[in-house]
Amino acid sequence: MASYDYDIGILGGGAAGLTVASGAARLGAKTLLIEKEKDLGGDCLHYGCVPSKTLIQTAHVYHLLKNAGKFGLPAVEAGPVDFREIAARIRSVIQRIQKHDSEERFCGLGAKVEFGEPAFEDEHAVRLNGRRISARNWLIATGSSAAIPPVQGLAETPYLTNRDLYSFEKLPRSMVILGAGPIAAEMAQAFCRLGTRVAVIQRGSQILSNEDKDMADQVMEILTREGVSFHLNSEILSARNFGTQREVVIRKEDGQTLTLRAEALLVALGREANLNGLNLRGIGMPFDAKGLKLDPRLRTVQKHIYGAGDVTGSFQFTHAAGYEGSIVVSNAIFHLPRKADYTFMPWCTYTHPELAGIGMNEKRAKAAGISYSVYTEEFKDNDRSLAEGEEVGRIKMILNEREKPIGVQIVGPRAGDLLGEWVAVLNGGVKTSTLAAAVHPYPTLGEINKKVAGAWLSQKIFSEKIKKGLRFFFQLKGRACGMEEGEKKE
Ligand SMILES: Cc1cc2nc3c(=O)[nH]c(=O)nc-3n(C[C@H](O)[C@H](O)[C@H](O)COP(=O)(O)OP(=O)(O)OC[C@H]3O[C@@H](n4cnc5c(N)ncnc54)[C@H](O)[C@@H]3O)c2cc1C
Repeated sequence: MASYDYDIGILGGGAAGLTVASGAARLGAKTLLIEKEKDLGGDCLHYGCVPSKTLIQTAHVYHLLKNAGKFGLPAVEAGPVDFREIAARIRSVIQRIQKHDSEERFCGLGAKVEFGEPAFEDEHAVRLNGRRISARNWLIATGSSAAIPPVQGLAETPYLTNRDLYSFEKLPRSMVILGAGPIAAEMAQAFCRLGTRVAVIQRGSQILSNEDKDMADQVMEILTREGVSFHLNSEILSARNFGTQREVVIRKEDGQTLTLRAEALLVALGREANLNGLNLRGIGMPFDAKGLKLDPRLRTVQKHIYGAGDVTGSFQFTHAAGYEGSIVVSNAIFHLPRKADYTFMPWCTYTHPELAGIGMNEKRAKAAGISYSVYTEEFKDNDRSLAEGEEVGRIKMILNEREKPIGVQIVGPRAGDLLGEWVAVLNGGVKTSTLAAAVHPYPTLGEINKKVAGAWLSQKIFSEKIKKGLRFFFQLKGRACGMEEGEKKE
């Protein structure tokens, strides 16, 4: 049997790579983790989830301060923000989490960490810092970067990506954002709340284009109300530097062109897998800008080389990367064949209101040719929501022909947390009637989960058929006030 330096070598120390490094090392596999940057943690910790959610919370608190009057409090004169203070807070949160993702911790778990830029020499070995290192199995988990489209003049225009957003010396006075996906929507609201004048340009007719339009529109309505301006159905024609400003020319739906100028230009037009420089072509591995070609067990064409995280090009979330990491550990270390199943992969966009989902929405159900029914409940009918001054939002439950829930979307306060109950319901195959009958504490936002399940159940319980049966068997006398359905007024 061939002998290798390591049982598994991992390229990339982000969410996916760290999951596999920790799992493999703790199971006793001789594990090597190679990271290009000077710290472990990946995009999520340094330029993604953690800094963005920290910024969002700061912006939320500032927004509440400025709206104190709405809560019966004296109006507060909130001064302008000092972004250096905000950036310092972001750094401190990252530093606290960094300890969990440190080289020392991984060494303690049994994994060797090396820093540098590896390239495959052959299908079992990479060259790193002048040395050849071999492993029986490899994982490619090098993540993704902001995709930069070939817009005329963009390459020569100083633009920002998610890597530049959290370390400003000064809050930009104005910002144009190209794209209206989750990152764009979250940052548009956060910067707008902090005092930046924000314009968002979107090619399609709605923001958050993977979501159902009615749900995404609620987010857009709130952001618009708060001051973000949206240019939908707009094509980006060109960009250029204009003194201290960046200039973007767009063509609107009616054919008119419009020139937008702002201090900052953020490109948030999707992601591209970080696969260049690894010499994948040299070992005959197919890939494109979206990612690697993988089988359901997350193996590449070389069955001992796996892919996980954003390089899969599918669900580009930290929790998806972690899940895929666990699939790789199962296949490569346990040798227990396991396929990735994304049926109930949840997600959340952390605008306010949040928009979270799991499973099918109407768009996906239609595309898959599934017949479905929809039940909705509104947050304006949830007592806790009203108490908290949160009136916007809705939950939407999608049932298949057999009346089994196949997806839930929530746009509303703390939607991502509310979705947790549905994660258990859908993965556990819990009946809708069980959820409808379960007691929830009052007053909580979570009651909306029970209520939407109850909307389906009550339609069955309070049917004419049931009422007739009860009348027949137990001689119920019928309504004491008003008219029975179907009764005519004299
Ligand atoms: C602004 C923003 C906000 C986000 N918010 C959320 C959120 O709220 N929730 C959520 O679930 N997801 C969020 N995401 C997505 C999340 O960050 C990614 O899905 C997740 O980080 C993917 O994990 P990964 O391991 O594939 O990649 P990463 O975490 O990026 O890790 C890849 C690692 O590989 C390293 N690397 C790259 N090239 C090489 C190379 N050649 N050799 C060695 N190492 C290399 C990188 O330096 C990096 O450390 C957000 C992303 C962005 C950009």
